[in-house]
Formats: sequence, structure tokens, C-alpha cells
Amino acid sequence: MAKKEFQAESKRLLDMMIHSIYTQKEIFLRELISNASDAIDKLYYKALTDETLVFNKEDYYIKLTADKASRTLTLTDTGIGMTQEELEANLGTIAKSGSLAFKSENEAKEGHNIIGQFGVGFYAAFMVADVVTVISRAHGSGQAYKWESEGADGYTIVPAEKETTGTEIILKIKENTEDDRYDEFLEEYRLRAIVKKYSDFIRYPIKMDIKKQ
Ligand code: ADP
Ligand code: MG
Repeated sequence: MAKKEFQAESKRLLDMMIHSIYTQKEIFLRELISNASDAIDKLYYKALTDETLVFNKEDYYIKLTADKASRTLTLTDTGIGMTQEELEANLGTIAKSGSLAFKSENEAKEGHNIIGQFGVGFYAAFMVADVVTVISRAHGSGQAYKWESEGADGYTIVPAEKETTGTEIILKIKENTEDDRYDEFLEEYRLRAIVKKYSDFIRYPIKMDIKKQ
């Protein structure tokens, strides 16, 4: 399938993410966990008005799986998921993701401040990953789709297999460079510390499954 280009605004934000400084990178996890929590909330609110949908709290969680051998960090949620159209609309553009829209041109140029202080959203994943894969199956749909991107040069969406409703985000963690260390984002102690710092208030369980080697 041909690669689709990101919208101009998205490209600008992506560029900011890729050139973010070391101390800001950890907030990618805050952004992805907050999206996962929002996605579960959406199912919860749907269940309030839809009698056919039962919300058993214990069925809803966020899971982090780190695998050092494949250098992947995977975030799984049992939330509402995204259709093919939603993957396209929500991850291909930043129109919906309000944060940057509220900033003036000058503030936006000084990307460093924005990254630390405001929600920069999904694209924060590109601060630590060189490939981001999103496999999602929307509530009420039997078909899953896979969105994948290596950053600036666009993304693809293809049909995929997924047994359950929800979203799985697979981050291929960047290799360490002389200036930046990424290995730590596959380490349990580091992931736990980031979760504690930014996501303590999340009202769904955040499970961890860290493969040692
Ligand atoms: P925001 O959270 O401010 O809307 P993001 O860039 O973080 O902006 O996310 C963009 C959109 O992508 C979200 O509004 C949501 O519709 C969709 N999205 C992102 N992650 C998930 C997820 N795990 N499950 C379902 N939808 C998601
Ligand atoms: Mg968000």
C-alpha cells in the first residue's frame, strides 16, 4: 500500500518530537497512557447509555510490555479502539489534538517549552521510537487495522488481525547514540518511575510485563 503523507502541521510537530532534548523524552509514556485511559473512558460512557454493553471494571486495563530482544515497548489498552477511518483522521493529522493549536507561532517555534508543559499527544511516541505501529480494533467491528509510520515520510494503513477490541501501540525503541540513551525505556525500574511520576492518577490498572532478555 502506498504511503500517505502527514498533514503539514503534523509534520512540524513530528519534527519537534524527533529533535526533542533528552530530558523531555520520558513524557511519551504520559501521552500514550492518557490516550489509553481516554479510550477506556469512552467505552465506559458508552456503556452508561447502551444497555447491550456491560462495563466490568476488571476487564479494563492498560498494559506495558517491554521486550529487550526485539527492542519493543508495547502499550495495550482495552478501550474503544479505532476504525480505519479513525486511524486515518486521528493519527494522520493533528487537527483534533488541540494542544498545539492554542499556541502562538512563537511559542510553537520554541518547541522545547511546549513539549514539557503541554500535552503534545500521540506523536510524542516518535521521541523514543523510530517505528510506531498501531494495531486497533474498534468497538462493534470485527476487523482490525494496522497503522504504521517511521516518522516524517508518512504512514500506511492495512487490515490486520486482532482478537479483541482495543488498541496496541508497538514502539520500536531507538538505538542509543552518543548523546541520547534509549535502552532505559525497556527497563522496568525506569518505566515504573515514569508511570509513577506522570500517571499516578489514572483510574485504570497499569500492568507491566517486562521480559528480561
Ligand atoms: P488528544 O489526546 O489531545 O486528542 P492525541 O494526539 O494524543 O490527541 O491523540 C489523537 C487522537 O487519536 C485521540 O483524540 C483519539 O481519538 C485517538 N487515539 C489515540 N490513542 C488512542 C487509543 N489508544 N485508543 C483509541 N483512540 C486513540
Ligand atoms: Mg492525548
